[in-house]
Amino acid sequence: MAKAHKYIFVAGGVMSGVGKGVATSSIALLLQARGFKISPIKIDPYLNVDAGTMNPTEHGEVFVLKSGLETDQDMGSYERFLGRDLNTENYMTGGLIYKTVIDRERALGYGGRCVEPVPHIPEEVIRRIKDAGEKDKSDITIVEIGGTLGEYQSVMFIEAARTLKMANPDDVLFVLVTYLPVPGKLGEMKTKPTQYAVRTMNSYGVQPDIIIARGEVPVDMKRKEKIASSSGMRVEQVISAPDVDSVYDVPLNFEADNIATIVMKLLKLKSKKPVDLAPWKGFVRKTKNTKGEVRIGMVGKYFATGDFVLADSYLSVIEALKYAAFHAGKRPVIDWIAATDFEGTNAAKNCAKLAQYDGIVVPGGFGARGIEGKLNVIKYVRTHKIPYFGLCYGMQLMVAEYARNVLGLKGAITTEIDPKTKYPVVAVMPDQQVKLDAGDYGGSMRLGSYPAYLKEGTVARGAYKAEMVHERHRHRYEVNPEYVAAIEKAGLVFSGISPDEKLMEIAELPKLKHPFFLGTQFHPEFTARPLTSHPLFDAFIKACVSSRATSKKK
Ligand code: GLN
Repeated sequence: MAKAHKYIFVAGGVMSGVGKGVATSSIALLLQARGFKISPIKIDPYLNVDAGTMNPTEHGEVFVLKSGLETDQDMGSYERFLGRDLNTENYMTGGLIYKTVIDRERALGYGGRCVEPVPHIPEEVIRRIKDAGEKDKSDITIVEIGGTLGEYQSVMFIEAARTLKMANPDDVLFVLVTYLPVPGKLGEMKTKPTQYAVRTMNSYGVQPDIIIARGEVPVDMKRKEKIASSSGMRVEQVISAPDVDSVYDVPLNFEADNIATIVMKLLKLKSKKPVDLAPWKGFVRKTKNTKGEVRIGMVGKYFATGDFVLADSYLSVIEALKYAAFHAGKRPVIDWIAATDFEGTNAAKNCAKLAQYDGIVVPGGFGARGIEGKLNVIKYVRTHKIPYFGLCYGMQLMVAEYARNVLGLKGAITTEIDPKTKYPVVAVMPDQQVKLDAGDYGGSMRLGSYPAYLKEGTVARGAYKAEMVHERHRHRYEVNPEYVAAIEKAGLVFSGISPDEKLMEIAELPKLKHPFFLGTQFHPEFTARPLTSHPLFDAFIKACVSSRATSKKK
């Protein structure tokens, strides 16, 4: 008989944002290190059909899969921890599930029956979860349910998990990630919110098998016992997960708490091979043994949310920079700078401050806010020979800056900002215009993996050491083919182009002219991983490190 497929559901109690994604990734990694094929799934309960239409300051980064699906940043975390690409089936939203059920109803797929939230929504959720596991040929599927227990929109997903457990009692396990606050005035860690979270879970007919107790500090034995006894669990099923400096420490902390052994015992599984965490430990060692630092300035606009700064909007870029820095033996110091600081009367003064950085990144973005500031930054780093890496919008603006200030095309810009510009050096392609005219904004950009051919003798080709690469995209506008010849004549090289030679994928200045001035139309950050740093990020950081050495910055 074929081995039963196993399922782990991870849900959150007390509050969101305490690291369910990292907990899910870490458990997946520890099981993968024991020879199991793991399929991680993220469920986002809201009604958006995918994550593409959500504002990053509200929801964090939109992570694009190889297939082009626009997903939640936790998918990026899974890909980075497991070191592999995930499929479209591994992500779902409430909107997608409801839409699928309603579309099926419209097509008479329910044969005249009443279609109801229960059981039809949970049924569709289970169908998709099973699909993901089958497509992956995995042994274990680990499903993270977004949000917090008790929220109205999560109910259908917990119900799906409960139904699956009813049908397969030995094959389904529940992990509850909670938070234990230490209120400042009391100075004591409180377990009550966790007890309530367990009770909420129980009210859905589900009992947690493992509690991951997050907190600023470790949970002591007395409180573990309290949680365990009030929840009908054994003490070893309550795992203490205090704050750590780096998320990459989490799997090793979980390993020390035997979480994988507990999971395997509860799911009646035997390790497929002796646990091998050597590569991961090697990476963690690198993060702790750096010599000197590398300072990077990130110029963007998705930073402020109310009074807080939300670095999550650029999570993959930040991670990619970190991997390359660690790879080079350097401690990454990344500053977030608002693009609008480089506009108006203070522009020149603030641009001069950029000299303190070893390199500048302008990441992806949309819309007009901060554009002139970004253009000023790009001009400054180009003329002052500070290493520059432009990602998507950062590449389009690099082309516009070059057209304006080197080619003399005054006011050259993307039609995203000014549809009537005299010099539309970046413009929407005809196939995209059709979609825009129809008001079709969701999932309609150039999305996912596309090939690029790399020209010999260029910085890009030297970094990748390959003639053809595949990278993930998420944009609507492209370098306008009508301006390519003139821009190249003025010295900017399009070192990466689509196989049909119509789309410009990478722009750069030759090494002799600038230590590193390169932009990509795609998003290399989506495929940078701890164990395999991205070649372009490596090349950028290397240039930053040598520019720091020559300028002897301290
Ligand atoms: N706004 C630009 C476009 O749509 C760039 C998008 C991005 O940076 N991801 O083409």
